[in-house]
Amino acid sequence: PAPLVQDSDPQAVALGYKSDATKADKAKYPKYVAGQQCANCALYQGKPTDAAGACPLFAGKQVGAKAWCSAWAKKA
Ligand code: SF4
Repeated sequence: PAPLVQDSDPQAVALGYKSDATKADKAKYPKYVAGQQCANCALYQGKPTDAAGACPLFAGKQVGAKAWCSAWAKKA
């Protein structure tokens, strides 16, 4: 499988990505609401049971199901 995104990756830093969603920078991203995570983001490609999955914002890598970034969008 593709490597997991690291919080220190430049794209991760740019998007405020945290592998643990609860560590999201609430001061910088006040729109973050507890409970938001990749697993329930519209862009997440993983299956509900997967620990990680693809995200179009991180080509060639996987994001954690319990991660979060500032591009989080509610599933329709
Ligand atoms: Fe996770 Fe969604 Fe951000 Fe992709 S866009 S890293 S799935 S929160």
